[in-house]
Amino acid sequence: MTLHPYSMIEGISWPAIPPPRSAGLLAMQYQLGQSQWLPTAELERQQLDQAAKLLRHALATAPHYREKYGTLALPDKLDWNTWRNLPLLERSEIQDCPEQIKSTRVPPSHGNIRLYGSSGSTGRPIKVLGTDMTHFFWLSLTLRDHVWQQRELTKKLAVIRSKITSGTSAGWGEWSDSIISGPSSALNIRTGVDAQLDWLMAENPEYLLTHPTNLHALLRRAAERGVHPANLRETRTFGEMLPVDLRELARQVWGVKLTDMYSAEEVGYIALQCPETEHYHVQSENLLVEILNGRGEPCQPGETGEVVVTTLHNFAMPLIRYRILDHAEVGEPCRCGRTLPVLRRIVGRQRNMVSLPNGRSHWPSFPSTDWLAIAPIRQFQIIQHDMQTIEIKIVCPLPLTAQEEAGIRTLLAEKLGYPFDFRFSYHNRIEPGPNGKFEDFISLTPDSRSRN
Ligand SMILES: [Zn+2]
Repeated sequence: MTLHPYSMIEGISWPAIPPPRSAGLLAMQYQLGQSQWLPTAELERQQLDQAAKLLRHALATAPHYREKYGTLALPDKLDWNTWRNLPLLERSEIQDCPEQIKSTRVPPSHGNIRLYGSSGSTGRPIKVLGTDMTHFFWLSLTLRDHVWQQRELTKKLAVIRSKITSGTSAGWGEWSDSIISGPSSALNIRTGVDAQLDWLMAENPEYLLTHPTNLHALLRRAAERGVHPANLRETRTFGEMLPVDLRELARQVWGVKLTDMYSAEEVGYIALQCPETEHYHVQSENLLVEILNGRGEPCQPGETGEVVVTTLHNFAMPLIRYRILDHAEVGEPCRCGRTLPVLRRIVGRQRNMVSLPNGRSHWPSFPSTDWLAIAPIRQFQIIQHDMQTIEIKIVCPLPLTAQEEAGIRTLLAEKLGYPFDFRFSYHNRIEPGPNGKFEDFISLTPDSRSRN
């Protein structure tokens, strides 16, 4: 697939002579197209060299790092041993002393300062600064995702999400003044599900971008109503953990594939879905991502650990070994041949883990087909209040019968691995958290709270 830039020269449209901004985006795509195949040792060498530049900049211009790292002696060539001994950066440090993490001397060539926020699932927001350069990488990785998934950019994109004003525009996004793309339409996610479906039928897009929980609701309702947007080719999701059965549901109901991406507002894209499989490739050209076990060592394929992120190009507010509080499972090297590290799945936060009385914990998953086999449940959320009690919030046209409740209890005892005291509560609607994201399992046990 080719990205087509606009031409800046009168009378010449093919091949196009792009203006500087488009030329920059295309030049970056060319480099990303090569770096994705680099031998692992070379990819890591490039990352460490870039990390060393960031580290020197942080030590020289961000007081917090000078204090935090003390008398760190940086070797001429940064090595993994030195790197892995650097203390992790906590979310609370960004909340408590943002001014100290900011650079006092951002290189002028990095452009304007930009503000990125993250509202956080438990309410205490953080603010992170970036630059025109961090934004450029964000745009470049957006385009890489389009290239990887072979999207026809002249077709129509529909977007249903939070933090957006409903309306239409001539292009797909901010880069569309540089690269040719088709029309797009946006709808705020606060719109009711039936109205969203009606809108989708009227817009009839080739591509739909939305949050997983919303797509789930759309597909369920579309199946009930027999509604199928005829042109739709692909659903794209972001911003929440992907429910285990959502890909299958998209295939069943609309016959389309689902492409997920893993990103966070304060660091941008962390991993994008492989073009050939359903797992994710870390965006190593922009971030140094470490998946660490409880002892702070890198996880092996098959192991799940904490996601720790370093933003390699953010010279306004360097985030070095930042604990983003998500967990992910490391995958085997990909058969597609790309050497960018693989995440098999993103499992969520500490608070999405169930804590069992025997001291163990795990990330439960709840395929909606299991629930639907028992009762016509529209929406659910499971809250662990303590080591014995779990509340099951349910949205359902009618309250469950005693037999249906018993069926859910048996299902959940099996999924969670313990016969908790399950208490049902009935609701008209279950709202997402303060960050607009929906979590189907939340633990309020002290252990989970202290880690978030
Ligand atoms: Zn791959």
